[in-house]
Amino acid sequence: MSHVFHRHCHSTLPMIASGRGVYLFDTEGKRYLDACGGAAVSNLGHDNHSVKRAIAQQMEHIPFAHTGFFTNQPAEELATLLCQLAPEPLNRVYFVSGGSEAVESALKLARQYFLEKGQPEKCEFIARRQSYHGNTLGALAVGGNEWRREQFRPLLTPAHHIAPCYSYRDQREDESEQAYALRVANELEARILEVGAEKIMAFVAEPVVGATAGALPAIKGYFQRIREICDQYDVLLILDEVMCGVGRTGTFYAFEQDDVIPDMVTIAKGLGAGYQPIGAVLVAEPIYQAIAEGSGFFQHGHTFMCHPMACAAALATVKCIVDNDLLQHVRAKGYQLKEKLRWTVGKLPNVGDIRGRGLFIGIELVSDQASKAPFPPQLAVHKRIKAQAMANGLMIYPMGGTIDGRRGDHILLAPPFIIEDSEIDELIDKLYLTLRQVF
Ligand code: PLP
Repeated sequence: MSHVFHRHCHSTLPMIASGRGVYLFDTEGKRYLDACGGAAVSNLGHDNHSVKRAIAQQMEHIPFAHTGFFTNQPAEELATLLCQLAPEPLNRVYFVSGGSEAVESALKLARQYFLEKGQPEKCEFIARRQSYHGNTLGALAVGGNEWRREQFRPLLTPAHHIAPCYSYRDQREDESEQAYALRVANELEARILEVGAEKIMAFVAEPVVGATAGALPAIKGYFQRIREICDQYDVLLILDEVMCGVGRTGTFYAFEQDDVIPDMVTIAKGLGAGYQPIGAVLVAEPIYQAIAEGSGFFQHGHTFMCHPMACAAALATVKCIVDNDLLQHVRAKGYQLKEKLRWTVGKLPNVGDIRGRGLFIGIELVSDQASKAPFPPQLAVHKRIKAQAMANGLMIYPMGGTIDGRRGDHILLAPPFIIEDSEIDELIDKLYLTLRQVF
């Protein structure tokens, strides 16, 4: 009997023993190719020496000092580096311990910003139906994953949800991509006008949707129109890059590929590459200034914010990405992986769509390619795929979720940035075999 309260009470998990490059090994000696970085976390693989060294050195200096009393060198350096990699006016970084905390912090920052500006009536959020922003109550309230929200609904602050940008499913045949992008973006304006611009604080969205849709990027032009609408109605744009940020899509911040600058951006997962838990919110200078010149105090905080060990790991992670030009590698290997998938897995009858950016790739599964009909939920296709893949020594991130009332099964691939050609081939062989075994 395990005294650990695992999320699945009835499953017996293998015990992890060690990791090397893109591989993990359990205590039975079985090897797993990590094709998803856990959940888009292990961006540098499992034995990066520079990150390990940075953590060990920080441990020698000082493992922890509370931010109520001290700042610390790795936090200061990391904040500077993250801002150097971001466009103006994203000039301030608020460090926390993970993705949900980052989203909660951004939501509360939005609220306090408008309070400081003397607009207390601004207190509602708009987000998208197909989205995941975390499991804490505020983040869950803006998220659109109904399966995760359902039983906690009475505890969730009401938020408004509009359609996602999901051309594979929702673009009409008589409509160009651009017309579709404009149509869905304009839903934001319609909802702001319906509720009243004076009440809306912010629009929250993932630039590339991860856990609820399998690496779904928006069509070019969508986020530019969203930005225009936000500017017009004094609504903040919060982009959630907890999963897709920190180089995963081939640019350091995913929003760079959408030609917009958000007012806040949340990052986590890959920031510490799994070596330490850490998350952050990059905040535009005017938001910081409104608070600094107003009450001078952000009414929020967590014990482990700016944790020196976590910041040291993240600083080494970001330096490793920059110094080794891993973004270029992500773009090249991502392209290669996606193309190879199209010619192999993509030919299987139950694969509806293959999409994504960089090494963030989604595969949408359908029971019928022509009608795009999803599998019935009772088949639990994504769970069978995960179990079969693990039996084959392959870690993939499968998802099944209700999207606009439709059940959909997806596979998310997010391998470490260091993946090489032979490992890409092995990934594809194992995935092909797994899908053939399941269908
Ligand atoms: N936001 C997004 C886009 C995510 O994908 C996730 C986690 O999957 C979160 C927030 C929550 O992050 P965490 O699990 O670190 O709390």
